[in-house]
Amino acid sequence: MIQPDRPLSELFSHRRPLRSIEFFPPKDDAGVEALRQTASALKNVSPDFVSVTYGAGGSTRQRTAQVSGLLKADFGYTVMPHLTCVGHTRAELSEIADRIHGDGFRNVMTLRGDPPKGSAEFTATADGLRHANELVSLLKGRYPDLCLGVAGYPEKHPEALSAEADLENLVRKVGAGADFVTTQLFFDNQVYYRFVDRCRKAGITVPVIPGIMPVLSLKQVTRFTSMCGTLLPQVLIRRLEAAGEAPEIVEAVGIDWALGQIRGLLERGAPGYHLYILNRAKSALALAAGLAA
Ligand SMILES: Cc1cc2nc3c(=O)[nH]c(=O)nc-3n(C[C@H](O)[C@H](O)[C@H](O)COP(=O)(O)OP(=O)(O)OC[C@H]3O[C@@H](n4cnc5c(N)ncnc54)[C@H](O)[C@@H]3O)c2cc1C
Repeated sequence: MIQPDRPLSELFSHRRPLRSIEFFPPKDDAGVEALRQTASALKNVSPDFVSVTYGAGGSTRQRTAQVSGLLKADFGYTVMPHLTCVGHTRAELSEIADRIHGDGFRNVMTLRGDPPKGSAEFTATADGLRHANELVSLLKGRYPDLCLGVAGYPEKHPEALSAEADLENLVRKVGAGADFVTTQLFFDNQVYYRFVDRCRKAGITVPVIPGIMPVLSLKQVTRFTSMCGTLLPQVLIRRLEAAGEAPEIVEAVGIDWALGQIRGLLERGAPGYHLYILNRAKSALALAAGLAA
């Protein structure tokens, strides 16, 4: 008998900061084994929940289900699988929802999704969905007991015509039934505080969880931030440049910056923080150690 997860909305109502960690599905069995080791090491961090991203297409999509299942069954984590509209018809999305719910998951990160590799633009599948708010409606309509997260963009989604239009979209997603928002990564807390203010003024009352990525390399973070339109503060760039080619110093700079961000966010009452750790345990362990009281 499958024990259903607790919906995260219940955890949020305890009003304590929630710690969560994001995994991505590995490409092969060796990657799954490495992820197992990361998941085992992270037991020390005791995340309140972990999430597993959904690939833009191909076999990693089955791996999302596989990895979500093993994180739940073998490690006892509360797992939030991600789901996107990319390449799926409504009927397929409904079937996936049935599987997710049947497997005991009660939390889903609900997204439109990035276009598959090689496509510059998102194109809806015939009889598929165009925007994340439509997937929120589909999932909530089918399973009202699912707790749904949606993506928020403190520095605007790259495709949005304006920050206002993007915020209107977030209002639509929450209006459709989203229970909380997780933000795109950011490196300047002021950006998050301004975003939350704008959300509240627009009538969004659900928790907005800040997404934090400890930097592992200047090259990699420059690529990520240019793809998602996130500002890299000059002082962080200078510190990473000063660390030069020494990976352990670069990681130490990244952890120190993320620690400063998280401390500041929790002092200002953020509902928790979501870590983008790229399947590496080290930075999450270092952050947990740095934050231990
Ligand atoms: C926390 C988090 C987790 C993520 N996980 C994944 C993942 O697992 N897999 C993956 O592929 N990607 C993931 N992404 C990336 C995400 O899929 C992309 O950013 C994608 O381009 C947009 O998805 P969305 O759900 O925000 O889309 P939407 O909310 O649909 O928005 C997409 C764009 O369309 C605009 N828009 C929305 N509705 C309308 C409308 N009615 N009219 C006009 N414009 C509209 C929005 O302003 C925005 O510019 C994640 C992002 C975040 C922040």
